[in-house]
Amino acid sequence: IIALKDVRKSFGHLEVLKGIDLHVMKGEVICIIGPSGSGKSTLIRTINGLTPVTAGSVKVEGQEVHDDKLDKLALRRKIGIVFQQYNLFPHRTVLQNVMMAPVLVLHENKREVEERARSLLAKVQLSGKEDAYPAQLSGGQQQRVAIARSLCMRPDVMLFDEVTAALDPEMVKEVLVTIKELAAEGMTCVLVTHEMGFAREVCDRVYFTDAGLIVESGPPKQVFGDPQDARTKEFLSKVL
Ligand code: ATP
Ligand code: MG
Repeated sequence: IIALKDVRKSFGHLEVLKGIDLHVMKGEVICIIGPSGSGKSTLIRTINGLTPVTAGSVKVEGQEVHDDKLDKLALRRKIGIVFQQYNLFPHRTVLQNVMMAPVLVLHENKREVEERARSLLAKVQLSGKEDAYPAQLSGGQQQRVAIARSLCMRPDVMLFDEVTAALDPEMVKEVLVTIKELAAEGMTCVLVTHEMGFAREVCDRVYFTDAGLIVESGPPKQVFGDPQDARTKEFLSKVL
């Protein structure tokens, strides 16, 4: 469902992605791990077209993402993305936040969207919080609203960029449980994460990036249990 081929990205003279190949099949859950500054966020942002590439090809469902003729709106609908900063609209209720994009951007029927939004909020364990404002929720709860908001667009793929990095430890788990349930339901997920336990338990494949390259990839058992590359070994020895 996702295919990156020799993807390169430079910011001025700084080459941040140096030829990335990555494939994700429908229903797969993959994790991208690696040191700070290795290009993980840049990589994940090329998948939904947020960051334009300098060279190479990014295809989602067979369509070239970095094609000027591509319908960007359709692409954004198809690929949900959740960031470390959840950026909810502070003056809108939880329910309004979740409903906003499908109603205002896709012009979907309000009643249908509301029904879907309520059931998604129940799914992320936030029934009863529909009329609360973001500031009245914990960080973990706000992040789950952000996930529900993304899901309300009915994406085929979900991208998560360090969605638990800004949360207190006790809230990390509730967000990971939500993602784990999504994965179990067959949602195709690409995660950048520092949660090695989660990567180990939930992912089908792990990609280790360093200095703009994928240095090593494979099933978590292999990458965590028997890393081949010296850089992977060094990184894992620091974080595990
Ligand atoms: P972290 O784990 O800290 O989030 P990362 O692996 O996600 O790091 P990126 O955010 O992809 O790393 O950044 C990779 C490199 O690209 C860094 O050196 C960063 O300074 C640079 N970079 C990222 N975005 C831009 C930008 N918009 N303009 C210029 N340089 C950028
Ligand atoms: Mg990052």
